[in-house]
Amino acid sequence: MAENTVKTRFAPSPSGLIHLGNVRTALFCALYARAEQGVFLLRIEDTDAERSKPEYTQALQQDLRWLGLDWQEGPGKEREHAPYAQSERLDVYRRYFDVLEQQGHAYFCFCTEKELEISRKVQQSAGRPPRYTGTCARLNSSDVTTRLEKGLKPTLRFRVLPGKSVEFNDLARGPQRFASDDIGDFIIRRADGTPAFFFSNALDDSLMGVTHVLRGEDHLANTPRQILLLEGLGLRIPHYGHISMIVGNDGSPLSKRHGSRSVRELRENGFFPGAVVNYLARLGHHFENNAYLSLDDLAANFRLEHLGRSPARFDPAQLLYWQREAIIHADIATIWQWMGPEVHELVPQGQRDPFVDAVRENVVMPLDAVHWARILFSDSLIVTDAMKTAIQEAGADYFMHALQALERAQTDFKLLIADLKQTTGAKGKMLFQPLRAALTGELDGPEMARILPLLSVARAKRRLEACLSILNA
Ligand code: GLU
Repeated sequence: MAENTVKTRFAPSPSGLIHLGNVRTALFCALYARAEQGVFLLRIEDTDAERSKPEYTQALQQDLRWLGLDWQEGPGKEREHAPYAQSERLDVYRRYFDVLEQQGHAYFCFCTEKELEISRKVQQSAGRPPRYTGTCARLNSSDVTTRLEKGLKPTLRFRVLPGKSVEFNDLARGPQRFASDDIGDFIIRRADGTPAFFFSNALDDSLMGVTHVLRGEDHLANTPRQILLLEGLGLRIPHYGHISMIVGNDGSPLSKRHGSRSVRELRENGFFPGAVVNYLARLGHHFENNAYLSLDDLAANFRLEHLGRSPARFDPAQLLYWQREAIIHADIATIWQWMGPEVHELVPQGQRDPFVDAVRENVVMPLDAVHWARILFSDSLIVTDAMKTAIQEAGADYFMHALQALERAQTDFKLLIADLKQTTGAKGKMLFQPLRAALTGELDGPEMARILPLLSVARAKRRLEACLSILNA
C-alpha cells in the first residue's frame, strides 16, 4: 500500500443484525475509500464472546455485499494484517499489554466492581464527574504480588497523565480538545484477560494502517483515550471523524419505533439496495446532486466537508421515495426477478416485458406487483365500494357503449376512448374513471393504454359485462 493511500474501516460487533445506523457508517467509509481510490477494510469486533455470534458475522457480511459495500481487506480478503476477527488476535493484544505494563503506562487494578460503584456514587453526590480515583495506581510491587498470590484477578488500567490536553481535528466536527484530568485511568484489559473496546479497537486501527476512522458521534468521548493509548505505544494515530447520529421524528435516537429496521428486514421486505444506499448517503451528508446515483457516483460526490453536524432525521417516506427511484432505474430483468414467484406464475411468458414496463411506476414492493398481476392476468376482481360508486355514477348506457367500443377498437385504448367519448358524450374524469374502475377495480394505476393489451379483449369484455349485471341487479 502506498504511503498516502486512504484506508477506512467498518468495525462492527456481531451481536445482532446490522441496522440503518451502523450501515450508514459502513457506507460513508466505503464511499470515502472509493472516492480516494483507497481501501475499505472490514474488521469483526467479536471479543465479547457472550454477545458475539458467528451467524451475525456471516449475516453482516452478506448484508454489506448485498448493498454493494464490498471490502478490499478483511474476512475472505486476507492481506498482511490478517486475521481480521478480533477474537483471533488475542496474542497481538497480549504483546502490547506487556509493552504498556513494562513501560509503566499501565498497572494492575484489583478494585472490585462494588468498590468502584461506591466510589462513583461518592463522586457523583459531591457533584464531580465519576472517574477512577487511582487507588491501585499507588500499589507497590509487593502489594501487587501479595494480591496475585491470593488468586485475585486484576484488570489492567491505562495510566492517564494529569494536566495534559488531548487535541485533534475531527474530520466532521472540527477542532476538539479534552483535558486528561477529565478522563481518569481506564481499563484496557478485563479481569478475564479479554481486551476492552478502547484498546483493541484503537490498536487494530493503527496496526492495520487505517488512516481515517469514520464512526458514530457516540464514540467521540472515546477518542481522546484512544489517542493517549496510541501515543503511549508510539503508534501512528489515524484521523478521526464522528458522524452525527440518526434520530427519529421525535429527536430521540433511531429505533424500531421510528420505522428503523435491520438491513436484513429491508431486503426481505423487497427494498432495493440502491434505494437503501441512496437514502442513507443523504442522511447526514449533503449531496449537491439529488438524482438517483450509482455507488461510484455517490463516491465521486462524497465530501468529508459535507458531513452534517446536527442529528440526521430518519424519514421512512424518503426511503420509499428512493425505492421508487431505484425501480425506475432498474432494468427489466432485475425488476422481474424482484417481483417474485407469484408474479412469475401469473404473468404469461410473452407478457413479461410489457407487464414490467406497464406497472413499474405503480409498484413499490413485490406485493404491489402481485396485486397488478392478479388484476391483469386472473379473473378475480374485488369489487370495492369506490368502484361500485364509479360504476353507478356512469350508468348502464355508458357500459353498453363501452362494450361496443371495445368490440371495434379491440386493445387500442386510444381508439376505444375516442369511440366512447363520441357515443356517450362523456368527458374528462367521467369518461376515463368508470372504465378504469370497471377494468381494474382501481381508481388509479398504470396507463390504461399499456394495460389493456395485457388484460386482453376477452377479460375486458367479461368485466364490462359484469358491471352491467351489477347495474341491472
Ligand atoms: N465495534 C464498535 C461498534 O460497533 C466499533 C466502533 C468504531 O467504529 O470504532 O460500536
